[in-house]
Amino acid sequence: MRSLPDSIGLYIHIPFCEKKCPYCDFYSTFLTKEVYEAYIKALLREIKKWGGKTNRPVDTVYFGGGTPSLLGGDILPLTDAVRSAFTVSGNAEITVECNPGCDTGFYALARKAGANRVSLGVEAGDDLRLKALGRSHTAEEAAAAVKAARSAGFRNISCDIMIALPKSNIKTLKEDISFICDKNPDHISAYILKIEQNTAFFARKNELCLPDEDGAAEQYMTLCEELESRGYGHYEISNFAKPGKESRHNLKYWRCEEYIGIGPSAHSYFKGERFYYPRDLKGFITGNTVLPDGKGGDREERLMLALRLSSGVPLSEFSAAAIEKAKKLAGAGLLNISGGKIALTDKGMLLSNSIITELIYENV
Ligand code: SF4
Repeated sequence: MRSLPDSIGLYIHIPFCEKKCPYCDFYSTFLTKEVYEAYIKALLREIKKWGGKTNRPVDTVYFGGGTPSLLGGDILPLTDAVRSAFTVSGNAEITVECNPGCDTGFYALARKAGANRVSLGVEAGDDLRLKALGRSHTAEEAAAAVKAARSAGFRNISCDIMIALPKSNIKTLKEDISFICDKNPDHISAYILKIEQNTAFFARKNELCLPDEDGAAEQYMTLCEELESRGYGHYEISNFAKPGKESRHNLKYWRCEEYIGIGPSAHSYFKGERFYYPRDLKGFITGNTVLPDGKGGDREERLMLALRLSSGVPLSEFSAAAIEKAKKLAGAGLLNISGGKIALTDKGMLLSNSIITELIYENV
């Protein structure tokens, strides 16, 4: 039986946005004063409740959304509540997701609340592409946001970039990469734009002039090359970091370690069980309970998650048939087998879903 670290992660969902981006299917809604105030009260209630269920130290806290930077000064009572309900480690990583268009005064408030990592939804470095994506901020605001976060004292800054954007090509991608890398972030999360059902983009996906599958793949491979050549390690399918700046909170998900998620749509893996709050803001405010999502952490799940990481999975975790399969995939440049481990290559990461499924299928 593998041993899990005693410490856990804590995720807090802030389900409000000033405007819905047309590609987004995260659970978020418009902010109204009345609902917002009731939500903060409900969050404080749930933080206290979950803190009463464990003595385990919390070594990562992540405010995600939605748009946590809309909290303004309310981030202070929330982090105070987290500290009084849980034992927060002295060196805990405390991340706040921010919209680059938010009031830059927020960064100082977040620092005062103890946050030490900021994740900025920069996405692109050109106003036309940001507009085509339906983002409400400009490239200039994104640059100012990184500067303001740094001036407020943040020494661990992550920027998101989206690739395979409408009307994009390798040239525009390289411009976006240069724009972000010029700001010298410590971490970069990269997402291929996917058109999800129930989004505004879905209804007009044929008008968006998106790159085809090969074009999107070429952009992903270019992104990997460009970021790796600038010193960002490709440590997970969608994540790149300078040495030592990997997201400690997100690593918990891929390492199948335990965490508690609070807020509508937030998922948890705690005491061996997976569960989640429904996507229902009013229900959360009035006291919805969490719904079960099965046992977590079985061998298959652990392998599926760990294979996302470039650190790979020991060969001892695989059957002889799966290792034979892995050798074939390595021959096609999709996997690396070295140092007693199997890991996806950049090319393999692009096709991760099918490769991981093939390996798990053979791993009986
Ligand atoms: S700001 Fe983020 S969470 Fe809000 S709608 Fe846009 S992409 Fe979704």
